[in-house]
Amino acid sequence: MRAILRRQDTELIVWQGNKDTWHPGRLLSDWGRLPRGFGGPLFCIDKKQPDSSVKEHEKGVRQMEPQAYQKILPDDVWKWKLLEQKFDQVLALYDYQEIRLSVLQDRDEIHKGLAAMQQEGESPRGGTVDIREANPDGTPLSLRPEGTISILHHTAGIHNKGEIHRYYYHGPSFRLDRAGNPVELNHLGVELLGSNKLFTENEVISLGLRILRELGLVDASLKLNSFGCVNCRPAYFEKMNAWLDEHAGEFCQNCLRELHANPFADTSCSRENCLHDTLRGPQITDYICPECRNNLEKVKKIQANLTNSYRVDTHLYKSFAYYNETVFDFVVGRGENELVVGGGGRYDYLSAKITRKRIPAVGFYLDLNAIFDLMERRSLFLAPKVQFAVYICAQSPDMEMMMLHIAQELHSDKIKTVLSAENNSSDAELAKARRHGCDLMIVLRDDNIREGRLLLRNIGREDQSYIPLNQISQSIRIARKSMNKD
Ligand SMILES: [Zn+2]
Ligand SMILES: [Zn+2]
Repeated sequence: MRAILRRQDTELIVWQGNKDTWHPGRLLSDWGRLPRGFGGPLFCIDKKQPDSSVKEHEKGVRQMEPQAYQKILPDDVWKWKLLEQKFDQVLALYDYQEIRLSVLQDRDEIHKGLAAMQQEGESPRGGTVDIREANPDGTPLSLRPEGTISILHHTAGIHNKGEIHRYYYHGPSFRLDRAGNPVELNHLGVELLGSNKLFTENEVISLGLRILRELGLVDASLKLNSFGCVNCRPAYFEKMNAWLDEHAGEFCQNCLRELHANPFADTSCSRENCLHDTLRGPQITDYICPECRNNLEKVKKIQANLTNSYRVDTHLYKSFAYYNETVFDFVVGRGENELVVGGGGRYDYLSAKITRKRIPAVGFYLDLNAIFDLMERRSLFLAPKVQFAVYICAQSPDMEMMMLHIAQELHSDKIKTVLSAENNSSDAELAKARRHGCDLMIVLRDDNIREGRLLLRNIGREDQSYIPLNQISQSIRIARKSMNKD
């Protein structure tokens, strides 16, 4: 198993076991991070030198970063905005509407929803981050742990048969990991509600792949599986349970219990024997009914037709078993470097369990932190053009009013300004203007002002001239034009 734990400026890519046996692509981005009782060696990779600095990090310690306190600093904010702009653009092409979900959520509604997402007998996939204060009406509150439950409640309130609703949402969600530590996750959620037609899963799959490719992850591909339907899945669960009983000695007690309740569960176990993809037990694709098989074949055919590269993975698991039929993961990279960056599936029965209204649906999530890190490692964020800017400084404090007036005038012309708080020598100010990336510098000096002019220094060319006090904007525009910085 492997998990990405984030720090402010370094990243630990951690996996368990030794380097030869770790399982690529198992990013623990969903519930929890490292498994409970984690005891193997941890390896970490320095973010700045991903290939060269693989080293054993620390043995036997469960390394957790306080994810609840992440912040995005100015050097990264423009990259996040770029990422968000790109997925907004693609989602608009497919006619998806953004919903901004409240971070404060009704705890009872959330807990009922999460329980409905699980199989009977499964232990909860992480808890909610609850807050002590209640709503004025006494309703207990939790921080948003995910978005699907809210989207289903909203849709159930407005849905009429035959209508299709296309929604997306993003922003932080908060959960407790298996050790009870709060974690902050940053996912994009996309849901299509109101239809069980096969085109709908093909639409959302294509949409997810297009978002990844537009972000520059051109090797994004698809893993497909079927979780069967209400008619054929029970037979598979039965076969699987019988097989687990026969092989009980090979699993730890926890995995045995979890897999009995839900053979698709990600038990996040650290024991090699327990790893879900090492299961040699019955595979769902051998038990699905002709209709489910036919649908899986059609999805494969349609995806191939749309030139989306895919492969069927009969061990594809999900944190939740509420999906039916088509389930999928989005992966980037190949072989050892393969990384799951999102996934989803069809869930036609979940709405009835949560809202008592049957609304067939299909959706997916993208792990935005994992995608951001990948884009960073592949240098996919192209810095935006540096904006033309004017540095303004004054010789004495009583010229502050004038400085603000000039800035206001330039802002009306959409010209960026940087104001100096000090009254240093011209050369010290010039050095500061350079550090701020400014193109021009206006110096306010008593003697110049008395003559009705201002000193203008061209920072790149290192020359200077005077501009009339009553034509500041116009003079700056001309200077900008001469520098080809329009
Ligand atoms: Zn079936
Ligand atoms: Zn286990």
